Amino acid sequence: MTNADAGELFLIATPIGNLGDITMRALETLRKVDLVAAEDTRTAKKLFSRYQITTSLISLHDHSSLKRLDEIIGKLQRGATIGVISEAGTPGISDPGFRLIQMAAAAAIRITPLPGACAAISAICASALPLDSFYFAGFLPVRSGPRQRKLESLKEIEATLIFYESPRRLNATLEIMEQVFGDRLACVARELTKIYEEFLRFPLSYLRSLGREEGWRGEITLLVTGYDRESHSRDPQTLLEAEAELRACLADPDFAKGRSNRDLVESLMEQFPLLKRRRIYEIVLSDNL
Ligand code: SAM
Repeated sequence: MTNADAGELFLIATPIGNLGDITMRALETLRKVDLVAAEDTRTAKKLFSRYQITTSLISLHDHSSLKRLDEIIGKLQRGATIGVISEAGTPGISDPGFRLIQMAAAAAIRITPLPGACAAISAICASALPLDSFYFAGFLPVRSGPRQRKLESLKEIEATLIFYESPRRLNATLEIMEQVFGDRLACVARELTKIYEEFLRFPLSYLRSLGREEGWRGEITLLVTGYDRESHSRDPQTLLEAEAELRACLADPDFAKGRSNRDLVESLMEQFPLLKRRRIYEIVLSDNL
């Protein structure tokens, strides 16, 4: 249910490089709204001057005060129409906008997205990595501990992983990814929609060697192939390790105490999804002999 007396909040995607990448509807909306809240008013002014837009601007960024957010919500409640734009691409995607969107939803204000450029989507489309399922991870934490933990948590996701990364950190990121994920196929999508746009589709180790001498430049989206459970589960070493772990569980008297074989097999199947039910049964029975 939306508040019929309130105005409307438009989330308007803007270009990620090439200023031609903006929709007719976005331009029309930017011209007709009462106010545009922009992450970077200087970038917004360049876009406005290219398309002769004269709508008033206010700034809205990640560190905007609650007072600024309340001010925008107040205007919407009094019937204003407001557009939100970020520095580039889709507002809220690794960009400011989320708190305002939440507050507008809580105030039953109508929220309308205007689709358009988004680096993650353009990058995966042309990466030639699997497109059927993907996971957007945004920026990794900067500090090494949280960064490593985040990558560990993504290790078994069976979907192409998409990251935003700064050129300065890219080589270090490729190195730690190779340690955590193994040498998976990846793609560096660089300078999308701009003059030097390129897609480098190689294993992580080779990508690292490319950046080693000259360093990386420009805006970068990094994509990495997801976890391949099928091939991983066929790896005999992995299966042996899983069986050894399962035997260790059974050796714990507290684990097996008072439980039927059937019950044990059910819970071990959940714990060791790589192993087949029949194999788990065999191990449980041999353990009971
Ligand atoms: N909201 C934006 C979107 O919809 O894609 C993302 C904003 S985020 C602050 C900026 C990051 O997106 C950059 O550091 C880079 O990782 C990625 N990015 C933005 N523009 C890009 C481009 N033209 N080529 C490659 N990656 C880009």
